Amino acid sequence: MRARGAGARRKPAAAPPGSGPAGRGRSVDRVGTVTTPTVSLSFDNGPTPGVTDRVLDVLARRGVPATFFVIGHKLVEPSGRAAALVERAVAEGHRVGGHTWSHTVPFGLLPDRAVDRELDDTRAAIERLGGDGLLFRPFGEGGAIDGRLMSPHGARRLRAGGYTCVLWTSVPGDWRDPTGWPQAALADVAGRDWSVLALHDLPVGAVDRLDEFLGRLQDLGADLRLDTPDECTPVRAGVPTSSYHLLGVC
Ligand SMILES: [Zn+2]
Repeated sequence: MRARGAGARRKPAAAPPGSGPAGRGRSVDRVGTVTTPTVSLSFDNGPTPGVTDRVLDVLARRGVPATFFVIGHKLVEPSGRAAALVERAVAEGHRVGGHTWSHTVPFGLLPDRAVDRELDDTRAAIERLGGDGLLFRPFGEGGAIDGRLMSPHGARRLRAGGYTCVLWTSVPGDWRDPTGWPQAALADVAGRDWSVLALHDLPVGAVDRLDEFLGRLQDLGADLRLDTPDECTPVRAGVPTSSYHLLGVC
């Protein structure tokens, strides 16, 4: 079963490990701020030995699931440490999907053959490590969702290949502001009932604030879960959703 269409997005198919009960009510205070938000955490651009391990430690301590969108070429570095982090994340109940092979040029600016390589090589590397090769987040330079994000060919490949393409609702800029990002993230979370946060497991120091941030979310009673709403999941298992237009290829 898959949630499709705007009317179904509050009824995700499966409650992931560590999440609260599916479909529970949201409360809204008098000024319209969401007080019991749903939050899907994601970490992009890793794995990074020495950082992703710490992210996993914090998630385990807090009992929170997350999705890691990893960069393909990092999985084949000779020490094998990045690859081992993918295996650990999967073993601990997190999702691991792809975030392009090279993370250098948005698909909207790439020739079709290069898009194919970026998708296929990343999928193969992730599947070898037990991750979900059909879970994909495109590279949007600086968090931009615009016409560069995807090409018509790339979107066709996502549909034909049965991919699930996940965007984001909040990019709190943890790599730019490793100490201030939780405040920006909490403000974003307060403004909508289901946020998909794009954080980064990069060596910038932002992970130092992760435990405290998750504590704040848990104090709010946030439902921290793995799946994502249609409004930032333009393709689900190959099927376009209500947010397909965000890919800019219609
Ligand atoms: Zn990225």
